[in-house]
Amino acid sequence: MQFVDLKTQYQKIKKDIQSRVETVLEHGQFILGPEVNELERLLAEYCGAKHAIACSSGTDAIILALLAKSIGSGDAVLTSPFTFFATAEAVLRVGATPVFVDIARQSWNLDPDKLESTIKKIEKEGKLKPKAVMPVNLFGLPAEYEKINAVAAKYHLTVIEDAAQSFGAEYKGRRSGTLSDMAATSFFPAKPLGGYGDGGAVFCKSDADAEILKSLRMHGCGAHRYDHIRVGMNGRLDTLQAAILIEKLKIFPQEMQARTGIAALYNDALAKKVRVPIVPFHMKSAWAQYSIECDHRDKLVDHLREAKIPVMIYYPMPLHLQPALKSLGYKLGDFPVAEASAKHILSLPVHPYLKQTEIEAIIKAVLDF
Ligand SMILES: *Cc1c(COP(=O)(O)O)cnc(C)c1O
Repeated sequence: MQFVDLKTQYQKIKKDIQSRVETVLEHGQFILGPEVNELERLLAEYCGAKHAIACSSGTDAIILALLAKSIGSGDAVLTSPFTFFATAEAVLRVGATPVFVDIARQSWNLDPDKLESTIKKIEKEGKLKPKAVMPVNLFGLPAEYEKINAVAAKYHLTVIEDAAQSFGAEYKGRRSGTLSDMAATSFFPAKPLGGYGDGGAVFCKSDADAEILKSLRMHGCGAHRYDHIRVGMNGRLDTLQAAILIEKLKIFPQEMQARTGIAALYNDALAKKVRVPIVPFHMKSAWAQYSIECDHRDKLVDHLREAKIPVMIYYPMPLHLQPALKSLGYKLGDFPVAEASAKHILSLPVHPYLKQTEIEAIIKAVLDF
């Protein structure tokens, strides 16, 4: 059994992938070839976004979004401490400062009720200027955007979705990528829509932002290739990755459905014994991960690994306690919900190619424990 099964997926779409890759190898436009444009159009259409700008990774997508909004030195970006390191890393990379807001216990996402008090605290201290909120749609579940956007509007903050795990998710009938001012997603192989290497995309509403993002991902170019009107980066998506992602996007809706079905089976079977993920009525999760919480997490992990069931811990250490972020000045106890979740959480396989027998074995192993 595998935690994520990319081999079975490849066998299913092998011919189409190979023929797409072949086309790129033949035409030879490896950088910003026609497949990149085609993918961008398909991504925007799928999400209902005005623009999608493909780029080199999810981390670079966040960096590009921050740069496009001129967020940098002296600016505070409010975000969750319970996420992958890249969320805070990207903020620091552009010279800004991540300011953490604890998560809500049920969703593992930024707690909208703690947002305003944190903004007020930053303003009172006077060292940083609150500039943006970056909620993370952890495990594929959207954060509470209506509340977050309302608080952000009150303080004139930009909202950028870290949608690295939530491509395909929905909030009140709208897809992740369109839930705030901008969104950054990732095509890392293990994400809901994954390529065969690194990749990402930024979604935005305004034509002006789209122009800036395209310029930023290509060394800040202007009208001509060797005309540089801002300092950008090399943040492009390879044409080969775009070609692969175009084919993967075709089977994405079926895969979403399969993951949703598996999560429902887990919820039904496990809800009485462990804390299972609850998706509010107004949301749909992309089920990047299926995570549960239980009191004796480490013993359950040992038990499952002994039963040959692959499990992962996302995330064993919240960001405010990471050695690399020590200079931010946080300490143990600052974000009790994130800290408790890190101790109790584990993720079960939820990839779309799990067999019925495997799902049953996973459920049985958890219940046996
Ligand atoms: C994966 C991930 C990223 C980074 O994406 P990469 O494509 O690996 O650079 C950022 N934020 C979150 C929440 C992620 O899960």
